[in-house]
Amino acid sequence: MPPPRTQGKALRQRLAELRGPGVPAKALDARALAALAANPGCSRRAILDGAGVNKAALAGALGSPSAFGQSQFALTRGNAFEAKVKADGGAELLRLVHEKLDRGAEPPAGASVPDLSAAGPEGRAARTALALREATAAAGTWTLLDHPMLALDVAGSPAFLEPDAVVVHPDGRWTVVEIKSFPMLDGSADPAKVGAAARQAAVYVLALEEVAARLDPAPVVRHRVLLVCPKDFSNLPTASAVDVRKQRAVTGRQLARLTRVQDIADALPEGTCFSPELPTAELTSAVESVPATYAPECLSACELAFHCRTRSREAGAVTALGRSVRAELGGLTTVEDVLAAARGETGDPEDPAVAALRRAARLRAEALGQEAAPCR
Ligand code: SF4
Repeated sequence: MPPPRTQGKALRQRLAELRGPGVPAKALDARALAALAANPGCSRRAILDGAGVNKAALAGALGSPSAFGQSQFALTRGNAFEAKVKADGGAELLRLVHEKLDRGAEPPAGASVPDLSAAGPEGRAARTALALREATAAAGTWTLLDHPMLALDVAGSPAFLEPDAVVVHPDGRWTVVEIKSFPMLDGSADPAKVGAAARQAAVYVLALEEVAARLDPAPVVRHRVLLVCPKDFSNLPTASAVDVRKQRAVTGRQLARLTRVQDIADALPEGTCFSPELPTAELTSAVESVPATYAPECLSACELAFHCRTRSREAGAVTALGRSVRAELGGLTTVEDVLAAARGETGDPEDPAVAALRRAARLRAEALGQEAAPCR
């Protein structure tokens, strides 16, 4: 077998070529990593994220600008809520951590809030690691790390991540805190939004575990995170403990897969480039050279969603109808295949998906008073 074309430093060089000359790498954040984990089968997203391509700029250059992202209003409201939650040295935030996650500990009075400022993301990550070590050693006290900086190795290069807060408990365990501006009504919030927050928090848990692994003994990073939201329609904070074990496991597996960015890069034609400066036709052909697995969920998670949705519909791919529909249809991958199987023109009658389609077609014909197509 020939050796892979790209390894280590050569891979980084190859990924820089994919971005285009002089195009800086876009840093991955926890939201991007969590979204990547939500569609683990998509090679297109994996290589674009792995190469640090700015997908919003790419989508614009392809003629399908993304509608993805938070409005300025939502950002301002979120920042104001977060400031309220962290006021007075994080007293309310720490009270919620104590109430929801650690009732057996001493109530958090006079918690320490270390200064984490330093030059550059590397400096801030080092400062955070030091603060975590010192807080863990200071047993019996509560410590709040406001916007710590964590580094997570992704495809051979560090992604810098900034959780809203990390709390060190008196027993030395660490908890991730996510502060969101969507409301919690009667103690529960929109499950889709909670799921997205849990996936994001799981990325922070993984990054914290990398810091913990460098300490001896390694502190415990709790897999139950604290989600803080406005209570009902007020701006008073309330919170819920969220178990992110599943999301952590899925994201961890997907990040391990990301090291195979090398395999995807090796399979691309020589000269492939995703620079938004390229003519649209050339760029489209580069993007289409990487397989994608579009699903409606992409609309809320990936900047390329409109482009991929158009292509998926043009190809008649059943994935455009949703992952659950796709799973029900077994080996039938296009709408044309599905209709032909339903009409009895193709497909193995023993195949449960084909049998169900033909039965559905017969029922539909009966309901409409039509003659059903003969089954073959
Ligand atoms: S929108 Fe396209 S590139 Fe993004 S995850 Fe979905 S299929 Fe992949």
